[in-house]
Amino acid sequence: MESGKRYGVSFPLQAWDSMYALNEHQTQIVEKAKKLGQEVLDKYAREVDEKGRFPKESIKALQEAGFMGLIVPTSYGGWGEGPKTFAAVVDILAQYCGSTAMVYLMHICGTAAIQAYPPIQGDRILRDIVAGRHLTTLAFSEKGSRSHFWVPVSQARQNGSAHIVSCEKSWVTSASQADSYILSTKAPDAKGPMEWNMYFVPTTTPGIKVEGPWDGLGLKGNDSAPVILQNASIPVDQRVCEPGMGFNAAFQHVLPWFQIGNAAISVGLAEAALQSSIQHALQTQFQHLGINLASLPNIRANLAKMRMEVDACRALVDKVAEKMEKPDATTLLGVLECKAACNEMALRVTELAMRTCGGAAFSKHLTVERNFRDSRAGAVMAPTADILYDFIGKALVGIDLFA
Ligand SMILES: Cc1cc2nc3c(=O)[nH]c(=O)nc-3n(C[C@H](O)[C@H](O)[C@H](O)COP(=O)(O)OP(=O)(O)OC[C@H]3O[C@@H](n4cnc5c(N)ncnc54)[C@H](O)[C@@H]3O)c2cc1C
Repeated sequence: MESGKRYGVSFPLQAWDSMYALNEHQTQIVEKAKKLGQEVLDKYAREVDEKGRFPKESIKALQEAGFMGLIVPTSYGGWGEGPKTFAAVVDILAQYCGSTAMVYLMHICGTAAIQAYPPIQGDRILRDIVAGRHLTTLAFSEKGSRSHFWVPVSQARQNGSAHIVSCEKSWVTSASQADSYILSTKAPDAKGPMEWNMYFVPTTTPGIKVEGPWDGLGLKGNDSAPVILQNASIPVDQRVCEPGMGFNAAFQHVLPWFQIGNAAISVGLAEAALQSSIQHALQTQFQHLGINLASLPNIRANLAKMRMEVDACRALVDKVAEKMEKPDATTLLGVLECKAACNEMALRVTELAMRTCGGAAFSKHLTVERNFRDSRAGAVMAPTADILYDFIGKALVGIDLFA
């Protein structure tokens, strides 16, 4: 196909990068995230991945620019933004550094719990978050119940006005870097497996040990190490839910942010793999034929398939984020669907990008192999894609998800 003006349109066609329906102010926030992505995240992403080190420069840049308080109400100095802006920001961050996007996602999920059920000194904590002085995360998954985070096997003991917690958390993003964990454990007087609490736990609490370092296949900078608590004493007023109602609090206030943000990370990683593939296809020459890789119809078809998959999932994320902002009876199904759909899409797209770029994809001069490795994590993060299929299927035939 010839390049240049044709049918009154300019080629290459502009990709649908403004898919998220945002207002002018929200667009400025996303542009700001893009600038940080280009100037900071992109600069350190390769080293963060190679050394498996925490993306401290990128997180610091986000903290200094105010992004850590993105969803915190303006009354605390935050930006008071909702799921749409959040998804668009996370999508952009993941395009430059998957590890940074993951750390950011878990911080926002922890923040959502803190602002829904403020612990003692909640105002100060939220102001510290806004000022970039406090990084939080979720410590849900346990060794005993694995990806079934909705049934922690550990149980707190009552000791006066404190709950004593011993547990083995199997993966905690930002484990050694966070200032606090939002931690789940069964309530002292729990009558069933789903009666648990969420607590705000400062990481300086005596009895906490990080079993690092994290050495994973992908998202290598996200410091996702196991964390052990042994007889850690947590004042009852650091609980961030109604007594024994952690499941309900997490389901209503935390998991929707996790689902939409995790989906947006998958979209961003797939977008990065696509962009890297386009650049490679244009720049790579078969000198003996006088053509580039993009001259091959199958390569162009691969690029087309990737573009269509990413666009379809980004549209879904935008729609579900909108439904989260204006909830109705269809919101929950969308929230369940979007993570599984986007996780699977990222697996397919990054695999196709590997094939499209050939042997060059194995080299680190393209981002494709990092995007490929980073995108493996989404589908196994709880609720895993398999479990979401089960939940969605149950929802469709009218069975309680947790029956
Ligand atoms: C990079 C990374 C960061 C993470 N960060 C955090 C964090 O910050 N906080 C946190 O709490 N957790 C975190 N996790 C943990 C994550 O959410 C999951 O709990 C974990 O990945 C599950 O792994 P597992 O080996 O325990 O899976 P398993 O539970 O052993 O599952 C193994 C397989 O069985 C399938 N399976 C399990 N149950 C069912 C079922 N009922 N139906 C169908 N299939 C099923 C799963 O889909 C999976 O494919 C992180 C994980 C990763 C990889």
